[in-house]
Amino acid sequence: MSRIHQDHLIDSVADALQFISYYHPKDFVDAVHAAYEREESKPAKDAMAQILINSRLCAEGHRPICQDTGIVTVFIKIGMDVQWDGATMSPIDMINEGVRRAYLNPDNKLRASILMDPAGARRNTGDNTPAVIHMEVVEGDKIEVDVAAKGGGSENKSKMVMLNPSDSIVDWVVKTVPTMGAGWCPPGMLGIGIGGTAEKSAVLAKQVLMDAVDIHELKARGASTRTEELRLEIFEKVNALGIGAQGLGGLTTVLDVKIADYPTHAASLPVTMIPNCAATRHAHFVLDGSGADLQTPPSLDDWPKITWDVGPNARSINLDTLTAEETKTFKPGDTLLLSGTLLTGRDAAHKRIKEILDRGEPLPVDLTGKLIYYVGPVDAVRDEAVGPAGPTTSTRMDKFTDMMLEKTGILGMVGKAERGPTGIDAIKKHQSVYLMAVGGAAYLVSRAITSARIIAFEELGMEAIHEFVVKDMPVTVAVDSSGEAVHTTGPALWRKKIESGEVQPIYFK
Ligand code: SF4
Repeated sequence: MSRIHQDHLIDSVADALQFISYYHPKDFVDAVHAAYEREESKPAKDAMAQILINSRLCAEGHRPICQDTGIVTVFIKIGMDVQWDGATMSPIDMINEGVRRAYLNPDNKLRASILMDPAGARRNTGDNTPAVIHMEVVEGDKIEVDVAAKGGGSENKSKMVMLNPSDSIVDWVVKTVPTMGAGWCPPGMLGIGIGGTAEKSAVLAKQVLMDAVDIHELKARGASTRTEELRLEIFEKVNALGIGAQGLGGLTTVLDVKIADYPTHAASLPVTMIPNCAATRHAHFVLDGSGADLQTPPSLDDWPKITWDVGPNARSINLDTLTAEETKTFKPGDTLLLSGTLLTGRDAAHKRIKEILDRGEPLPVDLTGKLIYYVGPVDAVRDEAVGPAGPTTSTRMDKFTDMMLEKTGILGMVGKAERGPTGIDAIKKHQSVYLMAVGGAAYLVSRAITSARIIAFEELGMEAIHEFVVKDMPVTVAVDSSGEAVHTTGPALWRKKIESGEVQPIYFK
């Protein structure tokens, strides 16, 4: 029998969440580095360089890897012989107290992204609670906990299907991954749950993402089970799609494929696939009554010393004198260094702008001649202008794009990953432009922001409209004024190269 105090659990959860906000797991860093070394597509290699540099900066500076510091997901196994010593809270309340303390930590305040009343007012809870908690009672006298902070961009790309028992799981995955676009910030992992019921397959898919990247070891020793065979087959076939880092076309889309299964009904084959992104964040701890189990800081030598140069062809763009004519000269794949004033706005701000314009009222801010950056930054600490401030998924703003370009006077947009057909049509119609920054490189991006202030919709918190002043912020032209999109041309090119045998997508060491 072990006697566990509630502070052991609260402190361990809070510590784990702070830890994973700025330390990638070593296995993940190694896998991205291996993929970076092998990558032959320059845009994809550049994106991975930024992800690795960002990762190292976060480890050094103890600041979040991504501006989306995630929804907390916890898997807790409580031994039947555990005795709670003077506990005044339930285990769920203890975990949420740990989340609260971690996210409000003044030394490294994390972004509160959790909204109550999701189908209604969508009001921020302010401290990132509640966590999503899966609790199990098991044999023994210990408590084992896996803690993850899952980004919304990758969570939004989760897919679930009830296949016929005779259907091919591999075919479904290979057909489905391209429909996920790049909003899940590849390279990352796929967690796949097979069997059970609909909800069981989803929990399995999430839980298996807590495992370390080890597919190169599996490849070396060979598959001994059906799920291991599936892992290898899916890994090879998904990477052969040529989607690449950030969907720019390249050799590595997934760093590993994890699969867990469970017995199912004779009539059923439930399958859920959940991607994990460039901000893969999870930690494990065990409580045995001896106190909180705190994470051990890694050595900074675990991070490769990558350097990245924008190259001689990068164009410097003055945002304060930018004109519509100049944006029409931007070509797909061009690297731009933005300097000057950049305004922010994402889901809630766009909805608010539309409501105001629909009522025929004036906007509280003049957007004429500006670019809008889709971002919800982390609050600043110490001498920062702003906390990590990477881009959010742009397709969510597609339905507003025509209205924004037609009625607000903006010249273009900056965001993450591809635009959908509605967004591209609007860009083409208005001969505008869409620029992308690298998702999962948020702390690196924030270093280009020299000042920040909220100028409208302050009550929306991180979704308020901010005015950033940026200096040499690197972005890539992702959709030009004719509607040509690098997220279409890049993967198509690299898929063709892979199919023809010109290049080999697998990065096995
Ligand atoms: S890396 Fe991309 S998907 Fe992951 S949390 Fe950051 S923005 Fe979201």
